[in-house]
Amino acid sequence: MPFEKMLFAGSGPITRMNDISGFPFAGDAIVLSGVNLSLGRGAARVNILRDIDLNIRRGEAVGLLGPSGSGKSTLLMVMTGLERPDTGSVRVDGEELQRLSEDALARFRGKNVGIVFQAFHLIPTMTALENVAVPLELAGIADAFERAASELAAVGLSERLSHYPAELSGGEQQRVALARALAPNPAILVADEPTGNLDEQTGRDIVELLFRGHAERGTTLVLVTHDNTLAARCDRVIRLRSGQIESRTGAAAPA
Ligand code: ADP
Ligand code: MG
Repeated sequence: MPFEKMLFAGSGPITRMNDISGFPFAGDAIVLSGVNLSLGRGAARVNILRDIDLNIRRGEAVGLLGPSGSGKSTLLMVMTGLERPDTGSVRVDGEELQRLSEDALARFRGKNVGIVFQAFHLIPTMTALENVAVPLELAGIADAFERAASELAAVGLSERLSHYPAELSGGEQQRVALARALAPNPAILVADEPTGNLDEQTGRDIVELLFRGHAERGTTLVLVTHDNTLAARCDRVIRLRSGQIESRTGAAAPA
């Protein structure tokens, strides 16, 4: 691959001068320091995340494992600015999230963060094409509809552009959600048990698309999964237990 292409692969229409994703010296995509979060009131208040320190490098694929209720989804919410921590700092693609207003945070997320949920979360009153294009338009990206159509083609859905979510299978809905997440060429892509509602083969197809998106664009990937084989495909596995990071091992290390 020519140097310039490598340098700017995955960047959007506005190429940022500091966008050198994929280079090992390019630094960290996500940095959490001293993050604590409690939710609930009074006696029901629970420490959900405790003293989380975490650095994820640009272009890295990280598998996030842990028992149900250990705080995985909450950690993803904090990383993507959907939830603000009580203490600590969260830096994503060089931006301190706590310094951003709610509006600025929403704009930041629209451009820099792709999110895929277990339950797809498509907008039911919009077609597949609109589900992908409208967030691009909101992010001020030119040619939103053309770009959305090509992202949907990339996940094999060029024949489904005008279908509504209810007219799509679960696997197709998740492919739309993945196209939507990848369309802005976000710096980070987070996926919360993205195959949890799918049968095995359909889940495997989604996983291939997810890792392909990550590899082709150099997107940093954080993947919550219960599947050890899936986690083993990541560069690194992080385990959460009761809101704390339990251990950090390479994917090849014993469980
Ligand atoms: P995981 O994704 O690992 O299953 P979650 O991040 O969803 O875990 O939840 C972690 C813990 O936080 C759970 O014990 C859950 O019950 C609790 N929790 C999640 N959201 C709230 C909330 N809004 N209020 C109180 N507790 C919550
Ligand atoms: Mg969860």
